[in-house]
Amino acid sequence: MVEVSIKSWAGRYGESVDDFDLDRDATLPGVTEGEIVVIRSNRRKKNVSAYRAGGRIVVSIPARMSKADERALVPEMVAKIRAQEAAVTMSELALAERIGELLQELAPEIRIRPADVAWRAMRERWGSCTSVDRTIRISDRLKGAPEFAIDYVLFHEAIHLEYSDHGPEFKELLARFTKAELASAYLDGYEAAETALAVPEALKKLLNNRD
Ligand SMILES: [Zn+2]
Repeated sequence: MVEVSIKSWAGRYGESVDDFDLDRDATLPGVTEGEIVVIRSNRRKKNVSAYRAGGRIVVSIPARMSKADERALVPEMVAKIRAQEAAVTMSELALAERIGELLQELAPEIRIRPADVAWRAMRERWGSCTSVDRTIRISDRLKGAPEFAIDYVLFHEAIHLEYSDHGPEFKELLARFTKAELASAYLDGYEAAETALAVPEALKKLLNNRD
């Protein structure tokens, strides 16, 4: 299960913030800083679980687990999550094809096609388009995201092949994407979860304001 919505995130943490010790130093080789969050839970006796929350992989382990066991287990859990995600990740070729379909269907007047479409580790943006060489980059945070959210970002970047700014022509075209509101809500929720996990203060505030 890849969980990214703010609801499932809050459900996991909803009981008491004090039960958790956010180990923010937990990183692995080849992993973006802060991508892995290890949570030691007093409530948890034996079980280990791992799931996606925002751009991070959260691994929840029992509070008493030894550091040695943690070091052995965390990479295993991370590999498991990645394997699940790889199974549902679109190939870069499929991304390019999808852009072609979206343009054909929603904006046939745009004849330009990207020369290259690729996944990139991007934390600040969902996608980018360089119109000079017609390259489109899609944030790897969207791997495993629902189709409508990926489509929305792909279509947005595809319009940039023709219009570099977000002017009236751009907006008129983007408005043809009917699930824009749903997609925005998904992306905003994802970012909220990410921000909350990155900053424990924000997390506490969010939980306190929940009821
Ligand atoms: Zn844009």
